[in-house]
Amino acid sequence: MTAKIVEVVAREYCLTKPFTFVERTRIIDSIPDYHLLLKPIVAGICGSEMLYFKGQKELEKLAKRLPMCLLHEGVAEVVKTGAGTTILPKTRVVVNPLVPCGKCFACMNLQENLCYEAKYMAANVDGLARTFFLYPESRVIPVPEDIELEVAALSEPISVALNAVEASGIKEGEKVAVIGDGAIGFLVASVVSSMVRIPHENLFFIGVVDGKLSMARDFATILNSYKEKQRLEELFGKIDVVFEAAGGGAHKSTVSQSIRLLRLGGRCILLGISSGEVSVAITNIVNKNLMFRGITRSKMEHFVKVLDLLRNNESFRSKVKRAISDKNFVIRSAKDLEDAFRYADTEAGEAHLNPGRVLVKFP
Ligand SMILES: [Zn+2]
Ligand SMILES: [Zn+2]
Repeated sequence: MTAKIVEVVAREYCLTKPFTFVERTRIIDSIPDYHLLLKPIVAGICGSEMLYFKGQKELEKLAKRLPMCLLHEGVAEVVKTGAGTTILPKTRVVVNPLVPCGKCFACMNLQENLCYEAKYMAANVDGLARTFFLYPESRVIPVPEDIELEVAALSEPISVALNAVEASGIKEGEKVAVIGDGAIGFLVASVVSSMVRIPHENLFFIGVVDGKLSMARDFATILNSYKEKQRLEELFGKIDVVFEAAGGGAHKSTVSQSIRLLRLGGRCILLGISSGEVSVAITNIVNKNLMFRGITRSKMEHFVKVLDLLRNNESFRSKVKRAISDKNFVIRSAKDLEDAFRYADTEAGEAHLNPGRVLVKFP
């Protein structure tokens, strides 16, 4: 087989330095075997990308990785196909942002999401913020017809939530707390509710912004940890499984909250990330026999399960819809993308109080 010849000019919106996107063009002149020419349609802005946008990554990572196109959660359309592929043009696909090497110790013995040499969109290779790109067919999944593209665009964060819930080994009858009222926390709570069927009274959604907490009001017991310290303390020592999904500066308090909330022998799944170190009351972890486990990214099988779940579980799909912001942005220029990122900043932007994943659309 040989690469298929095409002639396409892609516009790419690259982050060149914090707060600055610059448009550049790239000519795509061939499609390698087993690859697709894709056109992004809709993508979500993830907190991990906000760290690049705001220059909050380690300086050496910024220096090494920029300029880079951000965005790693989304749906694209197949424009043309390379030799050896089976997918048809015009198919809408969820893009798995991770391409594992398939050869390293992690790929051979552990799991693909731990690959040492992985290419990961908007982390060490370009993401979806461009009008066309090439991608291996093996890392995309067609969107079933009855799922809205905006909902399918959340497959990646849902797949991470699903990976975390599976890793926790929650059983029916257990008490679960999710700390963090952002999109990931909400999606973890949604999976716990819809898949493991943990009822309202045993599922606690803990955060600091009432407007975000209330999105889960009908299926979880919501608790504002700033305003309702007493109620939080009443739960200390009673929770079987805690998911820490806040991360960032909140780690200073959420890790110790997790230790206090857990019963003897309880489990904590850490999803949030922060830079630097966080001090931890090790003795309490030891004396309570707690288990802490980190979860990063997800496997291809999680994406497949997520799309199945979205298609077959009406109540889950309706929860996921709430995790989409009312506000979205159409991207025709680098400035449009900057506006979207400034809005989606949950610390300094309007998304601080407005819930849901901010989506960007490519016309
Ligand atoms: Zn993400
Ligand atoms: Zn590998």
